[in-house]
Amino acid sequence: MPSAEVVCVGDELLSGRVTDTNSGWLGARLAEAGWRLVRVATVPDELDAVADAVAAACARVPLVLVTGGLGGTSDDLTREALARVAGRPVVRDPRLEQALRDRYAKRAAEPPAGALAMADVVEGAEVLANPAGTAPGLRLRVGGAQVVALPGVPAEVRAIAAASVLPGLAGGERTTTSLWLPLADEAAVGDALGPLEAALPDGVRLGYLAGGGSTEVRLTGLPEVVAPLAARARTQLRAALPAALVLDEPLPASVLAVLRGAGETLAVAESLTGGLVTAALVAVPGASAVLRAGVVSYATELKAGLLGVDAGLLAERGAVDPDVARQMAEGVRLRTGATWGVATTGVAGPEPQDGRPVGEVHVAAAREGEVRVRSVQLRGDRDRVRTTAVVTALVLLRE
Ligand code: ATP
Ligand code: MG
Repeated sequence: MPSAEVVCVGDELLSGRVTDTNSGWLGARLAEAGWRLVRVATVPDELDAVADAVAAACARVPLVLVTGGLGGTSDDLTREALARVAGRPVVRDPRLEQALRDRYAKRAAEPPAGALAMADVVEGAEVLANPAGTAPGLRLRVGGAQVVALPGVPAEVRAIAAASVLPGLAGGERTTTSLWLPLADEAAVGDALGPLEAALPDGVRLGYLAGGGSTEVRLTGLPEVVAPLAARARTQLRAALPAALVLDEPLPASVLAVLRGAGETLAVAESLTGGLVTAALVAVPGASAVLRAGVVSYATELKAGLLGVDAGLLAERGAVDPDVARQMAEGVRLRTGATWGVATTGVAGPEPQDGRPVGEVHVAAAREGEVRVRSVQLRGDRDRVRTTAVVTALVLLRE
């Protein structure tokens, strides 16, 4: 599989003011085109730094993608850096200059000198039209490598790459098939797939991605090779882990698909998750076919007022209690006309609440004649407890 590198240019990426999203997007698109992104370098807006990073990358791989530093301000040095690496001058492209002048003429204005810099190109470079902005991309050869320079703005990176870069990459079509394992331990997943991993054919990559309370197993390779491997992975995982939790799609989508298939509807009542369960469901296109409502009843007394939880129970035990979760799920179901209700209550931290420790979480799912309640002690900080609580609640609906 051919390899590529990305060089991201910008002080703002190194100072943490802007988070790099260009390399991730390019990595995903390259993978789809059968290329492997093997390195991402982030460098400051300094001529030497950009030139050194590009030159080093060109010595290693046949494709180098540079993002940022192509605009018209004094800190935009990518052109000069590429000129130095290629050993060619920066020249003004008369057609680009005319296009810029025409654009400003429509507003009866002269282009500022900075804007005209966007008509500068490395001599001999191919100009890549920018459907989403002003500064065009540039493509040139440096030794055995092809260098593509793109602006920094993510929408412009995507537009130019989609129009002029990705279609020309001949790496053989690759596909990625994923399996999602909510609440599964990454190491246990790895153990279950040990035999498959040991006999992986050439050109197939097996990856584990843990986060947000789920482990994702990713198989990437030629479509005809990946499909049977994914089927084997599914079988091996279903033998080793709770079979209902080896999913072909992310948990929220899977929950909605199952409920929809059964003609069910759902309402959510949330305390410590503060809307995250509802948001995870709403993020799935078509959620409205199943989801009827989400209620965030954060104050203890509103668990009674909004959802009909027994006020005596709340007074006696506080809000962090399995019976409170159960009554929240039943209450939201009855009040919204949904066939299923799901609820979360617990202590996100950092401080204990009602004498309950951080991470104590109770979730419940209820429908007519059936209630499922699960109580867990979760680890981690406030964010982690809340995201894991979301998954724990949705898992109840999937079991
Ligand atoms: P412009 O024509 O806008 O000046 P440019 O090629 O000069 O484009 P930069 O100035 O380096 O690009 O970046 C423009 C903006 O794009 C930055 O302010 C930043 O918000 C965003 N950006 C740059 N690089 C990245 C990146 N790797 N990931 C996400 N956003 C980025
Ligand atoms: Mg700029």
